[in-house]
Amino acid sequence: MFTHHQIPSYLTQHDIGPWGVYLEQIDRVTPYLGPLARLVETLKRPKRILVVDVPIEKDDGTYAHFEGYRVQHNSSRGPGKGGVRFHQNVSLSEVMALAAWMTIKNAAVNVPYGGAKGGIRVDPKMLSKGELERMTRRYTSEIGIIIGPAKDIPAPDVNTNEQIMAWMMDTYSMNEGITASGVVTGKPISLGGSLGRQAATGRGVFVVGCEAAVKMGMKIDGVRIAVQGFGNVGSVAARLFAEAGAKIIAVQDHAGTVMRESGLDIAALQAHVTATGSVVGFAEADQVKDPAQFWAVDCDILIPAALEQQITASNANLIRAKIILEGANGPTTPAADDILHDKGVLVVPDVITNAGGVTVSYFEWVQDFSSYFWTEDEINQRLTHIMREAFNAVWQISEEKKVSLRTAAFIVGCTRVLQAHEMRGLYP
Ligand code: NAD
Repeated sequence: MFTHHQIPSYLTQHDIGPWGVYLEQIDRVTPYLGPLARLVETLKRPKRILVVDVPIEKDDGTYAHFEGYRVQHNSSRGPGKGGVRFHQNVSLSEVMALAAWMTIKNAAVNVPYGGAKGGIRVDPKMLSKGELERMTRRYTSEIGIIIGPAKDIPAPDVNTNEQIMAWMMDTYSMNEGITASGVVTGKPISLGGSLGRQAATGRGVFVVGCEAAVKMGMKIDGVRIAVQGFGNVGSVAARLFAEAGAKIIAVQDHAGTVMRESGLDIAALQAHVTATGSVVGFAEADQVKDPAQFWAVDCDILIPAALEQQITASNANLIRAKIILEGANGPTTPAADDILHDKGVLVVPDVITNAGGVTVSYFEWVQDFSSYFWTEDEINQRLTHIMREAFNAVWQISEEKKVSLRTAAFIVGCTRVLQAHEMRGLYP
């Protein structure tokens, strides 16, 4: 599929994974970049990759070692920015792709950052709280040589939250001998976190979803929605859509799938997940045995909000939704994109749909620098404005150039990055 030239020596054809998806997306946008296309090679290579060993002492006195990563994909428009993922399947290819999607996303919504991402290959559910803290602190210390408020600013992603961000902020601050609130975003409010940050990604998905629904002549009131992933992104998006009158008819998480034709009670489902760790066993719903059935649910809007490469050539044909809102990063493969396009399904890409998180992370970073904090209303209003503008700008380009929303978003993002790269010139 890829030429030898395209695969970096540290990946193989076998493990090219999500990075391969990203490369294909770049190939698809390149013909639309005009003279800037000559610089596109820079987007196909991460600027910097750090792989670290993260050893910890377990509660039983033995040692365990985990593999950690921080990838800075591009810094033409500003410092690196992107989340940290703790998951048993984290790989270099995945972190590279997630870092690259951050570059495109930050440029597409015009926040002044490059793109970065990090992760540890670990199932955090297997660690005690003390082990989790020691692992987070050692990882932060190991990547401390390349992160910083003006260098690269991590944030939460899958299986990381404000407690992890607090430990990261504290570790970096201790090592540097300062209180560096701006080194991470998604922090607790008491440490310089921003109001509205926790719900920002889900809120952005909701705002973009409402805009997309208008374009498709759909009313949110009564619309049927299926959500994959009921964590930070999926649960907030589900709640906001439900509050606006939508029916959330199916939810799938890592452990199982629940459905209810008349609409799930999202507050009750949230309480069940908080108490038990998954949607499985939620009493006010039908339990679905076959996970594949989720994709064939008769809904109007489908929100993948879990992991990448979930919608593929093997299930895209089953999908009955008219709109897909990519809450997750990279949930749809290029082959599935083509199938969905042929079926007339509107795919609203990750780099726009889930940009609410990094947008409010940007607000948090600005507030930390000025030590002046905004109200939640101000934050939500500014977030809504940025998300609507970004969606509509991308919509317009997709109409003008007759391309998918993904390619349109990549046109906006890649153009901004490559213009900055061109103006800065090649050092030395
Ligand atoms: P999270 O850890 O809070 O939740 C992840 C959810 O996905 C959980 O409900 C989990 O059960 C579910 N899940 C995991 N594996 C699954 C599987 N194989 N099948 C079905 N469900 C599965 O993570 P999150 O922060 O909500 O992130 C979800 C997605 O959104 C990721 O792709 C992430 O990169 C993206 N994202 C997150 C943010 C953010 O601010 N947190 C911002 C932008 C994008």
